[in-house]
Amino acid sequence: MITNKPILLNLSPTELEDLVTGWGEPDYRAAQIESWLYQQAADDAAQMTNLPQALRQRLVDESILSPLTPVMSLDSADGYTHKTLFALPDGQEVEAVLMRYDQRQTLCISTQAGCAMGCPFCATGQMGFKRNLSAGEIVAQVLYYARWLGARQPLVRQLDRAGKQVTNIVFMGMGEPLANYAETWRAIRRLNDPSGFNLGARRMTLSTVGLVPAIRRMSREPEQVGLAVSMHAPTDELRNIIVPLNRRYPLAMLLQTSREYIERTHRRVTFEYALMDHLNDNPTQADQLADLLRGLLCHVNLIPLNPTPDSPWSGSPDERVAAFRDRLQAAGIPTTVRLRRGIDIAAGCGQLRNAHSQGKVV
Ligand code: SAH
Ligand code: SF4
Repeated sequence: MITNKPILLNLSPTELEDLVTGWGEPDYRAAQIESWLYQQAADDAAQMTNLPQALRQRLVDESILSPLTPVMSLDSADGYTHKTLFALPDGQEVEAVLMRYDQRQTLCISTQAGCAMGCPFCATGQMGFKRNLSAGEIVAQVLYYARWLGARQPLVRQLDRAGKQVTNIVFMGMGEPLANYAETWRAIRRLNDPSGFNLGARRMTLSTVGLVPAIRRMSREPEQVGLAVSMHAPTDELRNIIVPLNRRYPLAMLLQTSREYIERTHRRVTFEYALMDHLNDNPTQADQLADLLRGLLCHVNLIPLNPTPDSPWSGSPDERVAAFRDRLQAAGIPTTVRLRRGIDIAAGCGQLRNAHSQGKVV
């Protein structure tokens, strides 16, 4: 359903103030509403008990508090991963995944419905580009999970973020965040703002396929958000196939930009590398990758490919993953293997949405 009611989460503090003063309310009402939205994660105006009844009704009638409707959700068998598919107001669908560890609760969120980058191994790439999400649609994924966690652990104090709250956010769901730069950054500001969700920027990590001009732009932002670069291949010849954007921004350019990013921000960059059996996982390729990264303040995250139905490649078996990791480490490159969490709930980016639209999961 398409409506032109304002989505409150899309508004900056000033815009929210303009809205309520335009309704004849005092400006401090905006701060109260903001606190309900971001700190209490309220999605229903009836909860906003310190607002006059007339204003609550106006919010119900004339605004949208949450632009997301959960369509389905799944728990992984081990109970540590929970995934939700959301419908947006125009019927597009996006996913978010919560990964629960002992001390952290990391939420992976989407920035676009679909993706235009066309990486052949990726379920989101396979569906093509639908549209950019607005900042409010991005933030709403976090607030949904803040509510979800809060409802499960009502006795844990609000301040105890580790127990009750989303403690880390990764922009690694559907879409290419740097291709939706303005709205992604607006979302980061709302999430970081003390009067918003108030999560430290260092607890957020943005993953990009390698949009060089946008990485440069990101290096000049005041918020210290972490950068992850999806590498996946150590030569242009192979990366042109796995990551088609490489034809526009080849490896030398991407690495030079990463080097400049590190010099400017002094922050360690993560290079992600999805291991595909006998495609990008042999020892020579590990050596080539080590040569590219030597001397950079960086860290490599290996993840065996989570195969999608249309992917031409399969994930590397454990022994090839371990051998690749050992070789990089021996060459002095800090390397970890990311757990394939939630594989039983199609937790790879875009996979739940595809399964749902093909009628495989209901
Ligand atoms: N568009 C951004 C962020 C979203 S994808 C990017 O590409 O970086 C987040 C990460 O998941 C990327 O590293 C991407 O390559 C990886 N990914 C996508 N599909 C995958 C799959 N089926 N198995 C393993 N990793 C996958
Ligand atoms: Fe887009 Fe990232 Fe998937 Fe590539 S891996 S198609 S950039 S979401």
